Amino acid sequence: MTELLGLSILELCYIAASITFILGLKMLSSPDKARKGNLIAAYGMGIAILATILFKEELTADKWLNYVLILAGLIVGTVIGTRMALKVKMTAMPQMVSFFNGMGGACAAVISLVEFDHVMHGGTISSGMLVVILLGLIIGSVSFSGSIIAYGKLEGKIGDKALPAGQILNIILLLGMLGMAIFMANTAQPQAIYIYILLGVSLLYGVLFVMPIGGADMPVVISLLNSFTGMAAAFGGFLYGNQAMLTGGILVGSAGTILTVLMCKAMNRSLTNVIIGSFGGGGAAASGDGEQGTIKEISVTDAAILLAYANKVTVVPGYGLAVAQAQHTVHNLEKILDDKGVEMNYAIHPVAGRMPGHMNVLLAEADVPYPKLLEMEDANDDMSNVDVVLVIGANDVVNPAAENDPSSPIYGMPIIKVLNAKNVIVMKRSMGKGYAGIENSLFFHDKNRMLFGDAKDSLEKLISEVKSL
Ligand code: NAP
Repeated sequence: MTELLGLSILELCYIAASITFILGLKMLSSPDKARKGNLIAAYGMGIAILATILFKEELTADKWLNYVLILAGLIVGTVIGTRMALKVKMTAMPQMVSFFNGMGGACAAVISLVEFDHVMHGGTISSGMLVVILLGLIIGSVSFSGSIIAYGKLEGKIGDKALPAGQILNIILLLGMLGMAIFMANTAQPQAIYIYILLGVSLLYGVLFVMPIGGADMPVVISLLNSFTGMAAAFGGFLYGNQAMLTGGILVGSAGTILTVLMCKAMNRSLTNVIIGSFGGGGAAASGDGEQGTIKEISVTDAAILLAYANKVTVVPGYGLAVAQAQHTVHNLEKILDDKGVEMNYAIHPVAGRMPGHMNVLLAEADVPYPKLLEMEDANDDMSNVDVVLVIGANDVVNPAAENDPSSPIYGMPIIKVLNAKNVIVMKRSMGKGYAGIENSLFFHDKNRMLFGDAKDSLEKLISEVKSL
C-alpha cells in the first residue's frame, strides 16, 4: 500500500511530523509539559528525516555515496548535539541555543548554494524560485554569522565593538544585498561569482549587525536571529516542496518573532531601539556609578526572624540563583516557612536570568508548584501586602534606576518594585554588578539590608536558623 486517502506515505509522514511540531510547541508554553513537548517534536523531526531518506526517491545502489554521506552527517550531528546538550550548564543555555541556531542558518544557506549550483548546471528554474533561493541564502547567512558572534559574546570571547559609522555601513550592506538579489533574479543566466559575493556580503552583514549590540539585549537578538533561521528553513521547504520543513520553518519563524516582540515589551523598548541603541553595551557601565551612600547588612539570625514571623514572603530570583544552583534549597525554605504558616511565592521578571523563561525552568526543576510563580505585573500589584522580599541573586530586574534615572541605560525597563514591600533583603556575594554593568541604588536604600554570601550557602544557613525558631 503506497497511498492512503490519496496521500503518499511521504506526505502522510510530513503531516504527522507537522502535527508533532505544533503539539510540541504548544506544550512548550507550560513548564510541566515542556519536556514532553520537546520530545514529541523531536520524534516528529526524526520521522520527517527518515521518511525523506526512504520515500523521497527510490533507493538505488548507484547513490550509495549519498547514503553514506547522509548517514555520516546524521551520526556526527547526533553525537555532537547530544554531548553538548548533556554537558551544558543551565547558565550557558543561551550560548548553546545561539550556536545551534547558527547551524540552522548555515544549513539554509548551504541548501541555497547547492540549489543555485543545480540551476547553473543545466537545471531550469523560474525567477520566483530563484528569489526563494537568494532569500534563503541571505537570511541563512546573516543568521549563521550573527548567531556565532552572539555565541562568542555570551561566552565572553568577543567584546561589544561598534565600528565608527557602523550603522551607515550596515544600511549600505543591506541595500547592496537586496539590490544584488533583485539583479540576479532578473538576469537570464546569473554567474556563479555573484552568489559567492552575495554570500560574503550577507555573512559580513550578520557580523556587523550583532557586533555593537551588547549586554542585556542579547536574548532579543538571539530570538530575532532564531526567527530568521525559521524563515530561511521555510524557504528551503518551499524550494523542495517539503511540507514538514515548511511547517517547521514557519513555526520557528513566527514563534521567534512573537518572542522577540514580547521581550521588547518586557523591556519597554522598540526593536529598532534594541538594534541601534546598544543598550547594556560599552557606554552602559558609566551610568549610575559613583557614590550612592551606605549599605546596611543583616545577619542570618535577624533575617531568619524576619522570615519566620512574616505573613507573606516574596522571593525575587535572578541569575545568581542559577549560578549558585540554589533552586532546591529555596524550595526547601519555602516548605519550612509553609509549615510555620508563612505564605511564600516567587516574583518572576520576564528577563531574569540569562534566557527567556530561565527562572521558570530553574524552579520547575526543583518542583516548585507552578501557581507559586507570579508574573511581574501580579507580583507588583501585591507587593504592598508583602512583609519580606528576598532578592536572591537578582540585580538589574530590581534596579530602581529603570524607573527614576532617565540617564540609565535600563531606563524604561519594567522592574519588580521590591521597595513597595515592608522589608527588603538582597542576597548576593558582593557589591558586584549585574548583566547591564551598572550600580544599583536599591542596595543603598534605607529599607534594604544585604545578606552577603553565595545564595545556596546563605539559604542553607537561613533554613537551619528558621528551623530553630
Ligand atoms: P543580573 O542583573 O545579571 O545580576 C545577577 C547578580 O547575581 C549579580 O549582581 C551577582 O552579584 C549575583 N550572583 C552571581 N552569582 C551569585 C551566587 N553564587 N550567589 C549569589 N549571588 C550571585 O541578574 P538578573 O537580575 O536576573 O537580570 C538579568 C539580566 O540579564 C538583565 O539585565 C537581562 O536583560 C539580562 N539578560 C537576560 C536574558 C534573558 O533572556 N533572561 C538573557 C541575557 C541577558 P555578586 O557577584 O555580587 O554575587
